[in-house]
Amino acid sequence: MMRQYDLLERVRKYNPNANEDLLNRAYVYAMKAHGAQKRASGDPYFTHPLEVAAILIDMGLDDSTIVAAILHDTIEDTEATREEIDQMFGPDIGRLVEGLTKIKKLDLVSKKAAQAENFRKLLLAIADDIRVLIVKLADRLHNMRTLHHVPLAKRARIAEETLEIYAPLAARMGMQSVREELENIAFQNLMPDASATIAARLDDLEKKNGATIARVESELREELSERGIDADVRGRRKSPYSVWSKMERKSLAFEQLSDIYGFRVVVPTVEDCYRVLGVVHTKWSMVPGRFKDYISTPKQNDYRSLHTTVVGPGRQRVELQIRTQAMNDIARYGIAAHSLYKDSAVADPESLSRESGAYRWLQRTLELLGDGDSPEEFLEHTKLELFHDQVFCFTPKGRLIALPRGATPIDFAYAVHTNVGNSAVGAKINGRISPLLSELNNGDEVEIVRADGQTPPAAWESLVVTGKARAAIRRATREAVRAQYAGLGKQIVARAFERAGKTFSDDELRKALPRLARASSEDVFAAVGRGEIASADVVKAVHPEFKDEPRKAAPAVDKSETGWFGLKKASRLIFRVPGSNAGARAIPIRGLNHDLPVRFAPNGGAVPGDRIVGIVTPGEGITIYPIQSPALSAFDNQPDRWLDVRWDLEEAGAEKYPAQIRVQAINEPGTLGAIAATIGESGANIDEIVFEKHSPDFRDIIIDIEVADLKQLNAIVAALKAKSVVNKVERVNG
Ligand code: MN
Repeated sequence: MMRQYDLLERVRKYNPNANEDLLNRAYVYAMKAHGAQKRASGDPYFTHPLEVAAILIDMGLDDSTIVAAILHDTIEDTEATREEIDQMFGPDIGRLVEGLTKIKKLDLVSKKAAQAENFRKLLLAIADDIRVLIVKLADRLHNMRTLHHVPLAKRARIAEETLEIYAPLAARMGMQSVREELENIAFQNLMPDASATIAARLDDLEKKNGATIARVESELREELSERGIDADVRGRRKSPYSVWSKMERKSLAFEQLSDIYGFRVVVPTVEDCYRVLGVVHTKWSMVPGRFKDYISTPKQNDYRSLHTTVVGPGRQRVELQIRTQAMNDIARYGIAAHSLYKDSAVADPESLSRESGAYRWLQRTLELLGDGDSPEEFLEHTKLELFHDQVFCFTPKGRLIALPRGATPIDFAYAVHTNVGNSAVGAKINGRISPLLSELNNGDEVEIVRADGQTPPAAWESLVVTGKARAAIRRATREAVRAQYAGLGKQIVARAFERAGKTFSDDELRKALPRLARASSEDVFAAVGRGEIASADVVKAVHPEFKDEPRKAAPAVDKSETGWFGLKKASRLIFRVPGSNAGARAIPIRGLNHDLPVRFAPNGGAVPGDRIVGIVTPGEGITIYPIQSPALSAFDNQPDRWLDVRWDLEEAGAEKYPAQIRVQAINEPGTLGAIAATIGESGANIDEIVFEKHSPDFRDIIIDIEVADLKQLNAIVAALKAKSVVNKVERVNG
């Protein structure tokens, strides 16, 4: 445990003017407050805030931040109060500690809607003072470093939250070393097998290629010193997580990854950076398209560096980053590094972050959120994976409307209110008149232009992407058509009564409704208008004594009421997995308007995350296909059988869904075991394995698995690709 004098010593090293009294008081106060509390590791709780402070001390942060780190868990976990902290340490530190207390309670891996809201709260909590986030990231870093002490059951959730929220935020703040460490520990915990496999393969590669790192390092050092450039050259291989995410992102096999080695050249001046670049490009040939000059054009988070990739010794691709020491510190610590280069910054935390790009980004983001204006950066640049299949748009009053990707202003209008959708005649996107069928982007402000007495064109139904819009359009067009038929029918009926020499009366018609098997006069008129009931039959129903020359009655079937597309309230359906013991379960799919049996297509199936479509088979039920399924072409000219459905992921539980993959693997002992273990470790079930032998060396294996969703399926495919025995993996869509 870091002792009191240790702490002071380390702060004094970079800040001779540190407020020793303040730091000492914080140390004693937090130590007393946490008292005998213990961490999961069995260590005294107080070691945790001290380690968090130590992380920040390494970044050279100001007194208030260090003190806030020491106190960060006191309000939440001890008797300490904001008032007391205000009194003892001043309101500046009190506010920081309270901000940290607030965000501690936010659950950031909850259901989507709650998560978006909590993420907004998180951003608002750090809006006042960016140091709240810096301390929070250090807090999370220490918690991740000690995650192995936490009960297994809790680890995945913490790791997931870290990967989805905190690592991207660290990246956003330019804190690359924090981000990398967070990602790698989270990855190890979430996917121990994939992480270990990649680490082992990186080791193998290193053995095979010999000392690529040492060779490049020494050749480059020599070359640079001959030219009188004073440079610090360091090589390293990429982290397992960065290798993994690249494999996943670009769906590459391990062998296809080219640049596994990265080198950093740190030099005294900006001029030196460009000189080093010249030397590197003369010595090795550069890979086209890979040179980036982030010195002349810094990234949004203030990152500056030259990037290039060259073909190095042994035809290995080698990535180089060339930068000055100051740039290097900013690359590692990001926003937190700014204090290092400002004399006044240590004493004046205000200037710590106000100047930095990361801070400006955050400020702008929050302003935008506050204005209800474009939060594009908030959503796009934080790269929160969960939001990827959605677009977030705003009403002119700032209400947030979340829609699936590909949504149009029509979807938007119906999401606001059915009446808004029905009366929509135009749209303004970000103040500009735009077609109602434009695809909406994140952060668009959408104003719907309305006109009363409109009926949505039936063609819209096939152009919108949300079930709600589609159902409403269907209903509205059906009602409009029905109203037209009813108007027509009413005229026909009136004329028939006239011909029969009777006076038409609505009251009398109502009394005759049972004889016509209709619920209302409107229904009768509509049926007559559609030709389903002969007008003479209406006359006879009202006046049974009336005689007319007999006419053939049209069959009284109203498809729009009882047919496949009758609109009842969306219901969840129960079905049984053929050949499984899973028993009855509910399919979380929206848009199933019929009390018909539902099943997944054989061979391939569909998993949450797939775009899906339902095919109606009269007398049998509905079959759910993924939209990419080739089997769907059989129904191309039967549009009546297509049913718009989508996943209702909010309601998805621990259910598993069938999918099929084809794996091409080396034919040797242990191959199948390795494949099965990889699938098993990912938490998926294997239903069936079928071998299709193709050559003495390779085998095609068809595996039926059950997964929770597309993400898990993709992760399995990537994990299998990472195996050395696996040649090819693809999903089968029957
Ligand atoms: Mn903590």
